[in-house]
Amino acid sequence: NDDQFKKVISHAKEYGYIFQSSEIYDGLSAVYDYAQNGVELKKNIRDYWWQAMVQLNDNIIGLDSAIFMHPTTWKASGHVDAFSDPLIDNKDSKKRYRADVLVEDYCAKLEAKIDKEVAKAEKRFGEAFNKAEFVSTNGRVLGYQEKIDSILKRLGESLTKEDLADVKALIEELEIACPLSGSRNWTEVKQFNLMFGTKLGASADSAMDLYLRPETAQGIFVNFSNVQKTGRMKIPFGIAQTGKAFRNEIVARQFIFRMREFEQMEMQFFIKPGTQAEWYDYWKETRLKWHKSLGLGEENYRFHDHEKLAHYADAAADIEFKFPFGFKELEGIHSRTDFDLKAHEEHSGKKLQYFDPEENKSYTPYVLETSIGLDRMFLAVFSAALMDEELDNNTTRTVLKIPAVLAPTKAAIFPLVKKDGLPEIAKEIFDDLKWDFNVMYDEKDAVGKRYRRQDAAGTPFCITVDHDTIEDRTVTIRHRDTMEQKRVAISELRAIIAKEVDV
Ligand code: ATP
Repeated sequence: NDDQFKKVISHAKEYGYIFQSSEIYDGLSAVYDYAQNGVELKKNIRDYWWQAMVQLNDNIIGLDSAIFMHPTTWKASGHVDAFSDPLIDNKDSKKRYRADVLVEDYCAKLEAKIDKEVAKAEKRFGEAFNKAEFVSTNGRVLGYQEKIDSILKRLGESLTKEDLADVKALIEELEIACPLSGSRNWTEVKQFNLMFGTKLGASADSAMDLYLRPETAQGIFVNFSNVQKTGRMKIPFGIAQTGKAFRNEIVARQFIFRMREFEQMEMQFFIKPGTQAEWYDYWKETRLKWHKSLGLGEENYRFHDHEKLAHYADAAADIEFKFPFGFKELEGIHSRTDFDLKAHEEHSGKKLQYFDPEENKSYTPYVLETSIGLDRMFLAVFSAALMDEELDNNTTRTVLKIPAVLAPTKAAIFPLVKKDGLPEIAKEIFDDLKWDFNVMYDEKDAVGKRYRRQDAAGTPFCITVDHDTIEDRTVTIRHRDTMEQKRVAISELRAIIAKEVDV
């Protein structure tokens, strides 16, 4: 809900995870900076993905292709012609909307209105009330459903001029049926290309128009033959990469869920044509398992199978996550056929084929893609981890239960007091553990307060050095999630932390 989402945003700032970009200049919309803890969490998520995809699969290898690519790339991939969202402006409020998102907002409002009418009628007619009959005969409010469904089906990829006019007409009708913007004065619906343009080269006449890449995938496709030959890869094999992507999003109102500069983690898996259905199922299951392995709650995930497919796909599904604002796409799994490799062959004139030694012939491989936004994954982890807990003594604590393997700081080391040689021992422990884990030292404030600070920052372990430590070289180790405290030998610390933190 809204409150939980606001809490996520303010907590992310207060505890050094995420800052608005260029904040001192009042910020840049939908662009964010990762602070001291955020940069660690982001790196750990990236590493967790890389380990599962590249390190643990001997047939998947990595790549780091450039953000700038030859402009023909985007012609071939279809982005120049079809990577756009329909936008509409309200002339009075001067507000700009993504037309499909606006229609969805109207739908939600309309549904709420219908629910209210149903509830009212139920109360009035009591036992005799037949909901299905009421819904089907109560025209005025409900008559829009069919129109909306048909428009939503058409919205997205390649809308014709007529489609765009229909969308506008529908928005005008909906605004009358359940006002959202408060004004009925709309512009035409236009297709808006989401790619950022820039220029390469010093002189005005020789400069080349470039795009900042809107996805990392194309860097993999254009390198297909280079990687396959130099890595001596045999089909099926995959190429994985993580890196920045840029999209000039029309609506950017959901914190790091939808950014204009973001990072993707993508893997393209090259397969024999005809085997795509089994690999599609395989990668759907494998990726869902990866998500569930983090223990953020199985009920927070679901698949959404696409009915309407992008121009390059023969099957597609999203893994959706329950964000504070509802279930939304976290990762896409796409069966891309040979669309991309064939398109690049055609535009470059170079062969992008595979010689299959078993079949003794060459063919253009099919592709299965898994594509996840690193920042979106960050938001999923962060928002599921943040909670207020009631404690036995009638107090509450704010705790960030980030899985230990992803936590920015693995352990905080405290001297109970700032004297009697305790800080020296605590620093010794810090100096020893820092070679294996990201740890920190803190001696400020009472220990209880230091525990709370680490709970809220997401640190899974706190280690406290007290006067007994001087005698017997033992310390107290406290677990963030259970708040359980145990007395252990300093020499055991490394193994205890490693058990939770190593995958
Ligand atoms: P959406 O429907 O939310 O715009 P999409 O279907 O366009 O997303 P893809 O092109 O399939 O997304 O990109 C793959 C993944 O990249 C998405 O699942 C998402 O996690 C991430 N992603 C896409 N756009 C953004 C963005 N603007 N900000 C952050 N992450 C993004």
